[in-house]
Amino acid sequence: MIVIKFGGTSVGDAQRVANAIDIVAERKAQFPIVVVSALAGVTNDLVAAAEAARACDVERVNQIIAAVRQRHEDVAMRLVQQKFDFFEAFIKQLDKQIEQIHTILRGIALLGEITARARDKVLGLGEKLSSVLFAYSMMMRALPGEHVDSEEVVITDARFGEANPLMDETRAAARRVLLPIIERNLIPVMGGFIGRTRDGATTTLGRGGSDYSAAIVGAVTGAGEIQIWTDVDGMMTADPRLIPSARVIERISYVEAAELAWFGAKVLHPRTIAPAVAEGIPVRVLNTHNRASAGTLITEEGDPNDSAGPRAVAVKRGITVVHMTSNTMLGAHGFLARLFGIFEELEIAVDLITTSEVSVSVTIDEKHNLEKLIDRLKPVADVQVREDQCIVAIVGRNLMRDSIVGARVFEAMRGIPTSMFSLGTSGINLSIVVDESDADRSVRAIHAALFEAPVGVTL
Ligand code: ADP
Ligand code: ASP
Ligand code: MG
Repeated sequence: MIVIKFGGTSVGDAQRVANAIDIVAERKAQFPIVVVSALAGVTNDLVAAAEAARACDVERVNQIIAAVRQRHEDVAMRLVQQKFDFFEAFIKQLDKQIEQIHTILRGIALLGEITARARDKVLGLGEKLSSVLFAYSMMMRALPGEHVDSEEVVITDARFGEANPLMDETRAAARRVLLPIIERNLIPVMGGFIGRTRDGATTTLGRGGSDYSAAIVGAVTGAGEIQIWTDVDGMMTADPRLIPSARVIERISYVEAAELAWFGAKVLHPRTIAPAVAEGIPVRVLNTHNRASAGTLITEEGDPNDSAGPRAVAVKRGITVVHMTSNTMLGAHGFLARLFGIFEELEIAVDLITTSEVSVSVTIDEKHNLEKLIDRLKPVADVQVREDQCIVAIVGRNLMRDSIVGARVFEAMRGIPTSMFSLGTSGINLSIVVDESDADRSVRAIHAALFEAPVGVTL
């Protein structure tokens, strides 16, 4: 069994859906389970629809939802190939889902406010529609797809917007729902991104979360491989949109891939790797637009021929630096414990930390509790906050085994103001905090220094 996940651009239009279906057909003998994202852009449209509903702009809501509906109908229409009964059945399903979402959006407009629960219900529509569309499109092309409601499979806690899977319950549900379909030689097709709580409320796993769904499904079904099909040739030495000369990484370890995803390499959702690690399942990142490319293979071992040195550079934007100085606790124990106790209480996750005898700087990537945090810290420390920062992270195993890496990075950053440096103790990550307006030039400079060095100079 394998899991095949298609991202939004891989199912963005009829041509791409047809291409994705060919990919599934080629792997039929491996008993695939298909996980699909919403059609490219649809989740953003749904965010806009939810906002318009909150603002009671009914006309705009209707306009957005009508466009979303039309896009799905158009794709199905282009793929129909004489199988009009499947097409008609799809349209019925489409209209049923659209009607349900209108009811929720009307409720939001009536109240003039949106709960996290209602928001997840609206945002999840994209994957519901894309998965129904994909399953019917498979049938229209004579491939035995069977739609599965992801809410029947992925069971989560009630952390709406960023839900966590309950793995035991999900395992039981997946076995009950998916395995009988596979045993009948059918191909299950489900939406990514969504799950449901024990009491039946729709949840979402965070933006970009369909990768995570694929890994969860792979882990609970004991799949042999999790394939993430996207719009680039694999994980690369940098985001190719920023660095066109970025190279594909053929093999990479779980820890390196997880670190890269966490520090902004959007090609994988940051939580994707964990379920695969738990079961030791290889993850492969592949390009739907370039099927001949071997992609990136992510395993425990990583690249056996490349156990040291930089693999890629990533950037995480929208970071806030909190700098805390103690005047009263110079040399005294307990300062850090008191500070981090406050972060813990407010459930604020810290990414990077640097310390000196009397001061500590940390980075955080959420803003919603910032005011509260500052108020709580003030009695303990003088606090300075710097917003609109970013973390540029160089990732690789045994990164600093050769000091040339550090030398090149510092040299590359010459002239760019930096506020924090941090080398993870496991030597897997060298992170630098810079102003967000310096993000692109920092990545360019570091990529050039580490990955575009003249031939003959190896790192
Ligand atoms: P999907 O819709 O398939 O989930 P995403 O847009 O979420 O696709 O992720 C793919 C994008 O990730 C690429 O188009 C690329 O711009 C971006 N990306 C960022 N960092 C990297 C990296 N290191 N390697 C490859 N792609 C990256
Ligand atoms: N459709 C969701 C999003 O845009 C999930 C995903 O694409 O992975 O965030
Ligand atoms: Mg994605």
